[in-house]
Amino acid sequence: MRSVGLVARDLIPTYPDIMCMHRLVVIVAAAAIMLLQPACTEVSGTGRSQFNILSVDDELDLGQQAYVEELDAAKQAGHTMLTNGAEHDRVMKVSQRIFDAANRMHPEIAQRFNWEMTVIDDPETVNAWALPGGKSAVFTGLLPVTKTDAQLAVVIGHEAAHAIARHGGERMSQEAALNVLMSAGFELSEADAGTQEVVMNALGLGTLAFSRSQESEADHLGLLIAADAGFDPREAIPLWQNMAAAGGESPPEFLSTHPSESTRIQRLNDLMPEAMAVWQAAKAAGR
Ligand SMILES: [Zn+2]
Repeated sequence: MRSVGLVARDLIPTYPDIMCMHRLVVIVAAAAIMLLQPACTEVSGTGRSQFNILSVDDELDLGQQAYVEELDAAKQAGHTMLTNGAEHDRVMKVSQRIFDAANRMHPEIAQRFNWEMTVIDDPETVNAWALPGGKSAVFTGLLPVTKTDAQLAVVIGHEAAHAIARHGGERMSQEAALNVLMSAGFELSEADAGTQEVVMNALGLGTLAFSRSQESEADHLGLLIAADAGFDPREAIPLWQNMAAAGGESPPEFLSTHPSESTRIQRLNDLMPEAMAVWQAAKAAGR
């Protein structure tokens, strides 16, 4: 008798339950549409399936616009762009080798990019970035922390890998998907914790786990690119130790969005046999 009572109660939901079901249907339907092909693409080099509604051309356009804006903002903040000198030449030499290796290893995506590197004279900023489409920058604050060219190559390789793996487009697509849900009447902030988690996980959004998966992917692909460019991949270990040490009490900007040093070093050690094989092959090829 008791079980019958339970069934009856389930079949006659209270008013708030009906509202909840209605919203859940909207969420699931919208998420299903968003997650359909052809918005799913494969990440070059890892084969991971990713949700990306942007075309490569869209990303090239957006990257170009963001590049102009970012450099403009740096100028507004009083920083100059180096066009010569030892720091400029070092970054250019290392980044050209990284871009060449990226084009070799990921021809389908990387060869469509307009790779370009700018050195921003900002000794306070320990950072580098690569926008969708390959427009990149290194801040001079990174240079004393990357004590060897191989260490600098690992950072530039990591950033280039974010662009190759189209992480920016992926992130924007997930944000757009969430916006569709919102405009369908779904208020994430008003949903209960369980529903929030379901939606966030469905979209791969917002959670640290998602940004960490992008970070591991960039570490993996970036290490192989640096190795293929002829840089000793083992330098990745002291690099991340230097980056952590450079942070002191407040970690550098670059680290604040990146995984903890010990997690990262453990992972890099796991990747090292693969990277060493790529490096040996690169050396045999005269790189
Ligand atoms: Zn990163």
